[in-house]
Amino acid sequence: MHFSVTILGAGSATPMLGRHPSSQLLTYENETFLIDCGEGTQYRLLEQKIRPGRLKAIFISHLHGDHYFGLIGLISSLNLGGRTDDLYLFGPRGLDEILTIQFKYSQTPLHFPIHFTVTDTTISYQLFENQFFTVHTIPLDHRVPCAGFLFREKPHKRKLIKEKLVEDMPYDYLRQLKNGEDVLDEAGNLLFSFEEFTLPAPPPRSYAYCSDTRYDERIAGCVQGVDLLYHEATFQEDLAHQAFERFHSTTREAATVAQTAQAGKLLIGHFSSRYKEVGGFLSDAQSIFPKTEIAEEGKVFMVEASI
Ligand SMILES: [Zn+2]
Ligand SMILES: [Zn+2]
Repeated sequence: MHFSVTILGAGSATPMLGRHPSSQLLTYENETFLIDCGEGTQYRLLEQKIRPGRLKAIFISHLHGDHYFGLIGLISSLNLGGRTDDLYLFGPRGLDEILTIQFKYSQTPLHFPIHFTVTDTTISYQLFENQFFTVHTIPLDHRVPCAGFLFREKPHKRKLIKEKLVEDMPYDYLRQLKNGEDVLDEAGNLLFSFEEFTLPAPPPRSYAYCSDTRYDERIAGCVQGVDLLYHEATFQEDLAHQAFERFHSTTREAATVAQTAQAGKLLIGHFSSRYKEVGGFLSDAQSIFPKTEIAEEGKVFMVEASI
């Protein structure tokens, strides 16, 4: 199953040429999901040759403009493009009001339903699920209500070893074996052992998105063992006091969360425009958590099992 994250924007609030505000595209098999939607996100989707019409759901972390100002443009374009499919939207209280008023005064009737769910940004709970994965909120410590999102695959079934299967094996037997159950006859004798006929299921993979937030050790608890972690790193250590005052994190704080959570890999982004180069962020984070990478815009990161 394809499971990846495309970085559309990894800048922070102050505009800067060459960087874009926060937005990521999560792809699972043939379905796409948007995480945050900073200004101009629809243009980045075009650049990446991603058809926005396929978006199933949009997750907005908080109502600072650099995380959702692109939403009205994107939804308007979906409407112009003739979308009729339902769209699921998750975000803090007030987002629906903002959109409704924009559509009201631009006299835009929507041709597709938007199902809006308010996120409770104070607790971690399951917000969404489909056939393949669940999404849990991650409470973050920011100036306004803010939640990150943890995408976790549902456990896979064991894999049948095709060469070993007996011809015309009943479907029910196959189901039992895939579920890790032995097949017994009516007297309770072993007919087929699941260990002989199947291989262990691949471990479920997970991705966590944490932006924006002050350093908060509870985050590591929410994302324990995550395979790929995106954590904001707005400032380097020289501006640690600003990070605290503005409810953001430093690079080392992001790395500490990754280390405490025993994450497989860390991506850092949401860099302040005060820093023209991002090399300092990387070396700083790697001094604590070596498996760190820059959330480079336009880059696709595969979500891979880390164990
Ligand atoms: Zn931000
Ligand atoms: Zn913010």
